[in-house]
Amino acid sequence: MIIIDEERIFKEITEKNPASVSLNGPDGILPQVQETAMKITKEFDIPAYVLADTTWGTCDLNTTGAKILGSEIQFNIGHTINTESLEENLVLIDAFDDVEFDSVAKKCTELLKGKTISLVTDSQHLHQMDKVEKILTERGIDVRIGKGKGQLNDGQVFGCEFYPASELKKEVDAYVFLGQSNFHAAGIALSTSLPTYVLDPYFNEVREVTEFALQLKKKATLAIYKAADAKSFGVIVGLKEGQLSKIFGLKIKKELEKEGKEVQLFALTDITNDRLRNLKGIDAFIQVACPRISTDNQFDKPVLSTPQANALLKILRKEDIGEYLEKQHWL
Ligand code: SF4
Repeated sequence: MIIIDEERIFKEITEKNPASVSLNGPDGILPQVQETAMKITKEFDIPAYVLADTTWGTCDLNTTGAKILGSEIQFNIGHTINTESLEENLVLIDAFDDVEFDSVAKKCTELLKGKTISLVTDSQHLHQMDKVEKILTERGIDVRIGKGKGQLNDGQVFGCEFYPASELKKEVDAYVFLGQSNFHAAGIALSTSLPTYVLDPYFNEVREVTEFALQLKKKATLAIYKAADAKSFGVIVGLKEGQLSKIFGLKIKKELEKEGKEVQLFALTDITNDRLRNLKGIDAFIQVACPRISTDNQFDKPVLSTPQANALLKILRKEDIGEYLEKQHWL
């Protein structure tokens, strides 16, 4: 069950006495966010809006929505990072999943015995790292936890940022991800090219995602080669506050034009196949917002992310693309 740090929210409201607040969180915890909003209105008799648009990460907080609403405090819930705020009137609130890993951790010991592994996880299960480390260590597994960097805590990864995992690449045999997210685990496998397992406490299951990650990579590479044949490109700048990358967008435009390609600039908040279908005369797109939009979704035309776009330029220049996804940060 997801536990939101409501004590912190109530303390902020008591101290700052806002006329209204807004709350948002990842889709998976929206029901709990709704409950917290109801409690706020009951306790303080103020409007508490649930901003129900997506918030995939601290790159996508929807502070614009909060500003339009005029809410005096925005609580972004569930993206635990190593800081409490990124701008004025925004408060980042922790949300932890209280599910236990004891059973599934014991289950994976036969598979991992004698190996050196690195434990990694997402925001919701960070507090379980030490406990799982102890269980595995007691059973003969050499466990490492990589150091945090930027917004990341020790052992934490985002979908496009893998510092704690990458720094141990040469020291470990495999990665073990705590939680249910094949999305995060596949990112680790792609950025390290090492076997990666998910310890899923809900299904009490240990599953390997290495093959799934390879499929994502094949699809991403195919899109790059298809894009290499394109004559006209659309370069899409993302309008989410932490994903705005105009400089890279303009740079890639210039580089493609040097290779004889025609390039048009676009800007979008949500980059979806449906939105792109409206745009005519474009053979392939490059979106410089969230890289996982390209690697994890289906599009009618090639839609490349930043690392794929860099690989595309290499192909056009007849260079080797190498392990273009084996990077600590895909942006
Ligand atoms: S993968 Fe990266 S850019 Fe995409 S939502 Fe997550 S943190 Fe943001």
